[in-house]
Amino acid sequence: MEKDFIKSNLIHVNEEIAKACESAHRNREEVTLIAVSKTKPVEYLKKAYEFGCRDFGENKVQEMNLKIPQMPDDIRWHMIGHLQTNKVKDVVGKAYLIHGVDSFKLASEISKQSVKKNVVSKILIEVNVAEEESKFGLSYDEVLNLVLEISKLPNIEIHGLMTIAPNVDNPYDNKQYFEDLHKLFVDISEQNIDNVYMEYLSMGMTNDYCVAIEEGATYVRVGTGIFGERDYQTNSL
Ligand SMILES: *Cc1c(COP(=O)(O)O)cnc(C)c1O
Repeated sequence: MEKDFIKSNLIHVNEEIAKACESAHRNREEVTLIAVSKTKPVEYLKKAYEFGCRDFGENKVQEMNLKIPQMPDDIRWHMIGHLQTNKVKDVVGKAYLIHGVDSFKLASEISKQSVKKNVVSKILIEVNVAEEESKFGLSYDEVLNLVLEISKLPNIEIHGLMTIAPNVDNPYDNKQYFEDLHKLFVDISEQNIDNVYMEYLSMGMTNDYCVAIEEGATYVRVGTGIFGERDYQTNSL
């Protein structure tokens, strides 16, 4: 299957990332592109792999687990969707990083399953930066308490923060949210909490990743910008 648009999209996205890093006086190495491949067939993922992607994002446990054995094993799989506790056992030991943790209940289950499998799971805490009703995630003032509680659990480590910013026409409308989340990230980092490593700030999607990079993102999650629009009608698996 010829999927040349994936190559040209990746070249474009990588150029944009480089430009945003330059204008923010950041090293290009500080930012990792996660290719968000949800709903897309494995042929697409293989193309992206061929052109250098090693980080892939999926939001459904079952879909991720179908794709993993069909892809090379040096890939870092990012679980970016909202996890239900009954699915945790199928993610632990497989995902490199679980992005959307926003409750003690979910963290406890990740901890429990990680102990069982004798692995350490890395997670990010999800923050609902604009406090949108429709979204998961904590409000700013809930974050520190949850971080402190989770930090005491075994076999789970907090490695940073994640957000899904509002869907806006002008990406600069999200600038303040990204800036605020970066501030919170630095604040928590300065508390030097045991078991908490503020190294990853996962923010920015196709529409706003350049602004997110200018405000300190270390992971940008780009789906449409690499693989094209998603079609939720047909099951492409
Ligand atoms: C789908 C998704 C993305 C990618 O969105 P695009 O707008 O297609 O880049 C990023 N993050 C999360 C959490 C997602 O669910």
